[in-house]
Amino acid sequence: MASALSVNVFDAPEKPLVGDRPRPFGPPMAWDPMTSTLIYGENDAVLVDTLTTVAEAEALAAWVKLHHRDLTMIYITHGHLDHFAGLSVLLRHFPGARAIATPKSVELAREQPVAFYRKLLPGQLPAAITLPEPYPEKVFHLEGHELRIIEQGHTDAADSTSLYVPSIDLVVGGDVLYNQCHQYVAKLTPEISENWIAALDGLTALNPTAAIAGHKKPGAPDTPEAIGWTKRYLIDFGRLQEETSSDRELFDAMGQLFPGWAAHQAWLMFGLR
Ligand SMILES: [Zn+2]
Repeated sequence: MASALSVNVFDAPEKPLVGDRPRPFGPPMAWDPMTSTLIYGENDAVLVDTLTTVAEAEALAAWVKLHHRDLTMIYITHGHLDHFAGLSVLLRHFPGARAIATPKSVELAREQPVAFYRKLLPGQLPAAITLPEPYPEKVFHLEGHELRIIEQGHTDAADSTSLYVPSIDLVVGGDVLYNQCHQYVAKLTPEISENWIAALDGLTALNPTAAIAGHKKPGAPDTPEAIGWTKRYLIDFGRLQEETSSDRELFDAMGQLFPGWAAHQAWLMFGLR
């Protein structure tokens, strides 16, 4: 009988970006706060996502080391650069770890506009951007426990995934899931919104006891209520797109509906460029 798994979450706070806001309102440009998740057993550990900057990835590596486990696997939930730019730093600290993502996520990762991100975060990204290896299976293991990859199509990102750990009723949602943080809805279409909501309903159906969001307000609890809130944000955004008559009105209305949420950034709603 395998011993029970544990989980711990690393919160990386918001960080300032260099560049102009896509609309002349909201706070100065910043990247929303984000998470990396460590799942660990008696001896081994799996890390989910690796953050963005060298400073974040170095801090994450030091934090992982405090758990005194062998990092055997790094799973990247989707192909957006903010979730895997730190990978080369992690692999330097943990050369024995294998870094994987779904083949579709690796394709999206390969297409990321790295030079553009280097302008937003000058001097802060690792010199080497390492891609995870395509992993075509749906399951991998940690000390005999199943970790299941759930492919969810286009949500926040194309070909997004969540990781489900049935033995501890854990969902690590990647960017399918947000928690008290304004969501990236700039690319939303009715079809994407519908698919994203179906993906969230799929996570609810798993009845998890913990659900960890890819972007969350630091310190927010990793409770499954975040799944319902992420869905509500999408529904309210779709409704307010119809009901408001200007970008400013829409932006302000979302801020009023979700007060105190992190990263009320104009770019999350209107795009980075
Ligand atoms: Zn993200």
